[in-house]
Amino acid sequence: MSFVRHIQERCRMNITIAEFAGACFGVERALDIVIKYADQRDNVVTLGPLIHNPKVVADLDSKGVRVVEKPTDVDDATLIVRTHGVVPEIIDEAKACGHDVVDATCPYVKKVHLAASRLENEGYQVIIVGESGHPEVEGIVGHAKDAWVIGAVSELANKELPKKIGVVVQTTQSQDLLQDIVSYLCTRCENLKVINTICQATSERQRAARTLAGECDCMIVIGGKNSANTTRLYEICLQDCTNTHHIETSDELRVEWFKGCNHIGITAGASTPQKHIQIVKSAIDNLVA
Ligand code: SF4
Repeated sequence: MSFVRHIQERCRMNITIAEFAGACFGVERALDIVIKYADQRDNVVTLGPLIHNPKVVADLDSKGVRVVEKPTDVDDATLIVRTHGVVPEIIDEAKACGHDVVDATCPYVKKVHLAASRLENEGYQVIIVGESGHPEVEGIVGHAKDAWVIGAVSELANKELPKKIGVVVQTTQSQDLLQDIVSYLCTRCENLKVINTICQATSERQRAARTLAGECDCMIVIGGKNSANTTRLYEICLQDCTNTHHIETSDELRVEWFKGCNHIGITAGASTPQKHIQIVKSAIDNLVA
């Protein structure tokens, strides 16, 4: 390639970060809480990984913050409950073990707990639109013990639907799935109450990712492979840009993804700190240089 053509191609290559991308209010808040306690105390642990982002968890580990799976795994700790929340019994158990419990559950997740609990108390069959087994969903079920967790419209086909159904949503679910489920239910149920608990941070990131993916010939989605909201962003981008890749760190970038591209888009899940986005952007800059 001639030097002039190389420069022309470089000039045509744009890299854009989505308007809304990366760490949300709840994650920033939880990180601030953990770092504050880690600076002041020994024996600070999180109950499960603080967020679904292995790099952030490794950074916290280097500050002495360990991950435990259950309250009985440690003695006399400052035990931090993560953004996803937990069932109330776990908090009771942790206190009974003598831990100082610090609740870093995102306030928006707490709203879902309250909504699900209120609907159940009012006699609604609670449906949680979400991913069965996801920690946030398990925490919500802990506040509405008879709830059904529904991850696709097809899962409703074999259910005998009661007259009163109340719907809440895992905060990171897609609006499309909620709409599909509500459309199915509203023609089959006499009394349907829907509390849309999808977090605005999630919808903003999904909307911005969709818009950007439609303009780009390569999309990079950054975030934990175990992060539900990052996986959702990946799926959304893939619909409009087949050259979409989900990475956790810049080491996974491949130069061939960018060959012939004019516009590269970057988005990131709500558990990805802003500094990780900048690291990936710089790495792409270097790869295409
Ligand atoms: S995505 Fe929303 S609900 Fe989830 S932690 Fe972030 S702010 Fe809270």
